[in-house]
Amino acid sequence: ENGRADFRFYHASMNADTMAHLSLENELREALATDQFVLHYQPQIDLRTGSLVGVEALIRWQHPQRGLVFPDDFVPIAEDTGLILPIGDWVLQEACRQLSQWRSCGLNHIRVSVNLSASQFLDPNLPDRINALLRQYGLDADALDLEVTESMTMASPADTIGSMNVLRDNGLTLSIDDFGTGYSSLAYLKMFPISTLKIDRSFVKDIETDRNDADICDVTVLLAHKLGMDVVAEGVEDQATLDLLREMGAGQAQGYHFAKPMGLEALLASSLIGH
Ligand code: C2E
Ligand code: MG
Ligand code: MG
Repeated sequence: ENGRADFRFYHASMNADTMAHLSLENELREALATDQFVLHYQPQIDLRTGSLVGVEALIRWQHPQRGLVFPDDFVPIAEDTGLILPIGDWVLQEACRQLSQWRSCGLNHIRVSVNLSASQFLDPNLPDRINALLRQYGLDADALDLEVTESMTMASPADTIGSMNVLRDNGLTLSIDDFGTGYSSLAYLKMFPISTLKIDRSFVKDIETDRNDADICDVTVLLAHKLGMDVVAEGVEDQATLDLLREMGAGQAQGYHFAKPMGLEALLASSLIGH
């Protein structure tokens, strides 16, 4: 990983790391085979109307011994080992399956955002696979929003524009996740067919006390609107933060202030659904 012409002295802890990595890899394979993953959904709220406009699907691993494991503890290893491809495919399929289920409950206007990993996003089969899933579950393409990160798009901007255009032409929408934390090129940003910028939680959380963070949020809202994009502020935890974001003109938000990510049952029972 450190490139050529480099050396390290052996230390026993390296063995332990490798063993832990290996056993996690095997456990992830097992988890896929025995259906241990679940999707939780976090509501996204329209700040003008206060209504639910979408949900973000977030994967969790229901581990038989360790309980609920969060993505930060297994997605990086899934990415290293290539297992993120089948896992990501499971996420897409499960999100479509559950979406068709709540469509049949009469919830027609809610879209689901799915987080993509770099290898998934660059997989040339992705658009066909998504089309097949939409057909299988009888869904319109605008029901699905795909979240990609700046670093994924900047690794190979020319390919990215190509993949994004195919997905957009198929009717899907695309969002940039964690905006502001990667290396963005504004020159490319304006060429990407992106519908939404998601302002990273690290800028939102101290918006009341940190002038720089507040300015970054303000300018991001402005930038997004100038480029014809919507804004979702991530990680809104209190009313004061929400008030500031609303003043800045942010259109949508998600965060613990509204709801934590929850299972489908809980979501369907939630007051946000407004039956
Ligand atoms: P993300 O896509 O930026 O998701 C937002 C994360 O912030 C979620 O963490 C969510 O639970 C958390 N969050 C939301 N509101 C608040 C808040 O008000 N306060 C705080 N403290 N946290 C909040 P989670 O579910 O642990 O996911 C972490 C990351 O794992 C995600 O960041 C995403 O990058 C990745 N991830 C999740 N699901 C998937 C997936 O299906 N595929 C891939 N490739 N990555 C995923
Ligand atoms: Mg996300
Ligand atoms: Mg994010």
